[in-house]
Amino acid sequence: TPRQRSFKYYALLVASLLLPLLGFFVYATRYQTNFFSYITIALLLNILLLSLFYRRLKMKKSALKLQREEFFEKANVLKADLEKESRVIAAFRKKIIAYSQLKGLVEKLSMCLSQEDSAHTLCHEAGRLFEHADATIILYLFDPASGDLAIAAAERNQRAVNIKTKTGDIFDHWIMKNLQPLYLEDARNDFRFDQEKLEDTEARVIRSVLSVPLIVDKKLIGILRLDSPEASRFHKEDLRFLNTIGDVAAVALENAQLYDKVEDLAIRDSLTGLYLRRHLADRLQEELARHLRRDKPAAFIMLDLDHFKHYNDKFGHTAGDLVLKHIAALMKTHFAGAGNLLCRYGGEEFCAVLPECSKEEAVALANRFVELVQNESVVLRREKTPVTVSAGVAVFPEDARTREELVQRADQMLYEAKRKGRNRVCSI
Ligand code: GH3
Ligand code: MG
Ligand code: MG
Repeated sequence: TPRQRSFKYYALLVASLLLPLLGFFVYATRYQTNFFSYITIALLLNILLLSLFYRRLKMKKSALKLQREEFFEKANVLKADLEKESRVIAAFRKKIIAYSQLKGLVEKLSMCLSQEDSAHTLCHEAGRLFEHADATIILYLFDPASGDLAIAAAERNQRAVNIKTKTGDIFDHWIMKNLQPLYLEDARNDFRFDQEKLEDTEARVIRSVLSVPLIVDKKLIGILRLDSPEASRFHKEDLRFLNTIGDVAAVALENAQLYDKVEDLAIRDSLTGLYLRRHLADRLQEELARHLRRDKPAAFIMLDLDHFKHYNDKFGHTAGDLVLKHIAALMKTHFAGAGNLLCRYGGEEFCAVLPECSKEEAVALANRFVELVQNESVVLRREKTPVTVSAGVAVFPEDARTREELVQRADQMLYEAKRKGRNRVCSI
């Protein structure tokens, strides 16, 4: 090979240089004896120099090794830093996405005025943010008067679902008691919750739970929760995000509650708490439109106190007001029912809209009310004062095709009841 050849040339060159030197050396030591000592000293000096040189080389080598290790170490630290940095960036990016989603939620929530609207928007939008978890999202609102929870909205995969536990299950009651967020990887392995009790009340399988109380000024507004039939569906990070959503939602829901209250004040009569006549007009129109679509009857009952002018004259206007309040209270319990609308139509005239109620049912209900008013007479200064009412019943769509006609027909029937001697019910 060329390498072997060049080595040969070098060997030849060294030999051709060394041979004359050896000759010179032999000649010098043989014929110039004192030269031997010089050459020995020179040799010793050479050896010394070489050993010194060798030591320096060794030192330099170990220094270089050290430096190399140091570089490697620095490179590793830099690599770790870089990884950490990219993790931070990824987390930051996630956070930015989360906050922009949160911003969207806040914007949508701020467009809602009523609590019902806010509740549905919150459930829908928050559900969208946890779409990946394939979970059921439920919003409960807390009623301070009854001390119970009431379901306000529930969705799964962006569609409304029916939840059996309308007033919350063991997890919601735990939150109500502790006012703390709840994070369960697997409800089956949690000693705090009785699995049998859960299966008794809820047909759905619930294993992962993520739930936060909605609190404003230390007051419970409601509960926002997510659950899944699979275990370990949520992360701790999800709970933190839900908590932030909960903070925003609590304020929005409380504002909506205030809005509803103000709205309610504007459409309700201050003496009786029943709806005012102008609100009735709008609601009745909506109700009838709905009934036309469903082809179901809706009953309208008009009520008027009998000889109320006399009553006022005899017992005074303040006593008369008490009677109006009393009648309204009786109406609220007697005509309590889903969708029923009670209204103070005029001074001492009231009406009740009963959706999905046949004429027979409405007449029977009105008859029982007339009887009830007669029996539950108002006590003034320990004296029973007689109060009676008359009622007229008309049913949509069999008695009338429009709202105006329905009211008019009921009014006619009321007049009929008055004419026939009062304290009775008349219908077409
Ligand atoms: P009828 O059996 O024919 O209905 O006889 P009535 O005396 O009740 O006659 P009408 O319905 O025309 O009388 C209405 C009376 O109701 C007049 C008024 O003194 C009384 N009234 C109306 N609004 C109020 C109210 O807000 N408070 C009180 N105390 N009385 C009222
Ligand atoms: Mg009257
Ligand atoms: Mg009247």
